[in-house]
Amino acid sequence: MPTPEAGRAPGHPAPSLPVIDPATGETFDETPDQRPDELDDAVDRARRAWTGWRADPAARTTGLNAAADAVEAAGEDLAPLLTREQGKPLAESYAEVARTAARLRYFADLAPRTRRIDDGRPVHSEIRWRPLGPVAAIVPWNFPLQLASAKFAPALAAGNTVVLKPSPYTPLATRLLGAVLATALPEDVLTVVTGREPLGAHLASHPGIRHVTFTGSVPTGRAVAGAAAASLARVTLELGGNDAAVLLDDVDVDRIADRLFWAAFRNCGQVCMAVKRVYAPARLHAEVVEALAHRAKTVVVGPGLDPDTRLGPVNNAPQLARVERVTQQALAAGARAATGGHRLDGPGYFFAPTILTDVPPDDPVVTEEQFGPVLPVLPYRDLDEAVEAANGTGFGLGGSVWGTDLDRAAATADRLECGTAWINHHAELSLAQPFAGVKDSGVGVAGGPWGLYGNLRPFVVHRPREEER
Ligand code: NAD
Repeated sequence: MPTPEAGRAPGHPAPSLPVIDPATGETFDETPDQRPDELDDAVDRARRAWTGWRADPAARTTGLNAAADAVEAAGEDLAPLLTREQGKPLAESYAEVARTAARLRYFADLAPRTRRIDDGRPVHSEIRWRPLGPVAAIVPWNFPLQLASAKFAPALAAGNTVVLKPSPYTPLATRLLGAVLATALPEDVLTVVTGREPLGAHLASHPGIRHVTFTGSVPTGRAVAGAAAASLARVTLELGGNDAAVLLDDVDVDRIADRLFWAAFRNCGQVCMAVKRVYAPARLHAEVVEALAHRAKTVVVGPGLDPDTRLGPVNNAPQLARVERVTQQALAAGARAATGGHRLDGPGYFFAPTILTDVPPDDPVVTEEQFGPVLPVLPYRDLDEAVEAANGTGFGLGGSVWGTDLDRAAATADRLECGTAWINHHAELSLAQPFAGVKDSGVGVAGGPWGLYGNLRPFVVHRPREEER
């Protein structure tokens, strides 16, 4: 198995950052705390590697398919390391590795189409596509590998090179992934840099970077857009969400309860497009609360490496404190915990899976992104009011509608102001579909061919008229 290199001369110990296992709250490893000058070097190398990488599409296809094979072969090393630093159950880490390989394969075979424009004039314009240059990929801690691959796979397939910066909370699996990819790709085509801020800010504002593709919170996304303005680099932002699930009055609660629960609690609720609030018809509200609370009480919570665990810890101490704070605020404002509402005793960053009722509709646990294992369930009397409430935050990532009459559910889904709306499920994505948030949830489009074109610029060649030959 390749090992990630810190890239320093012997005898000069690198400054490092501790990496904490969220299941114990203890440091178990470290990562280089790289300085801006090391980043400059990585961007320089990415620019030099670009010349060769952009020139040969067939070699890119071969390289990215080989990279997918290498990732799959490294699954036994990548998945446990991911669980150790991120906290998620091991099966979910394996799924993340598999998704990373699948995405590399998907983009390996995707090529932009050269098009002739026929507008009736005797001049022919041909649209070709060109890569942008070195791409900065900045990624959060909830799906470190999967979200990194959503950035580097289309960027590399388009002929760009990539400098990838994971979150300081989850740098290790990404560094190992970088070493694995280096066995299949030309040198410096993809470089992983790790460290604390201002490393990300420096990367986002670096004059050698031509596209900053960022996934993370809304406030950091705004800062990244501001930083990238210095070099006028293209910006793609995939930001926070506060997805609503709207249950219709013909919903079969028994039938959907499992799916709804996991749409909210997968990865301990730390999913950008998790269900973060539920709107249930008043008549069914108690039944919905009971069904979700039963699952929250009985789900096995524990360390991700334990094979019985279905729900791991919150990833880091500040996030745990945030989840606790928004929950306490809601309880103080009159909400009631049908179950949970508190940290779990013992080591690690565990929070009891929580279902909240009687929540004031304007409480921050409803209007903001809790990003943890806490779910408010709100009753409604009038569907128009529920749709208005679902659309009533600054976010617009996803949403879902749940009911038995699928046509009515689809008509309601159509009214949601978001990038993706699901019916009777939530947060399932195909590699081939566009993924984009509206309002504060994002700028630009990722996924499928849109993700590829997001890493390309049009280049137009005008051919002469016959008489001008
Ligand atoms: P974050 O915004 O704190 O950090 C994201 C990344 O940005 C990290 O690598 C961080 O080190 C880096 N960073 C921090 N300050 C920076 C700066 N000034 N300039 C450049 N980079 C900087 O987010 P987080 O807490 O790691 O992740 C959780 C957030 O990510 C949630 O809001 C979640 O909804 C969002 N998210 C969105 C999507 C999506 O696709 N829309 C997917 C997953 C997570």
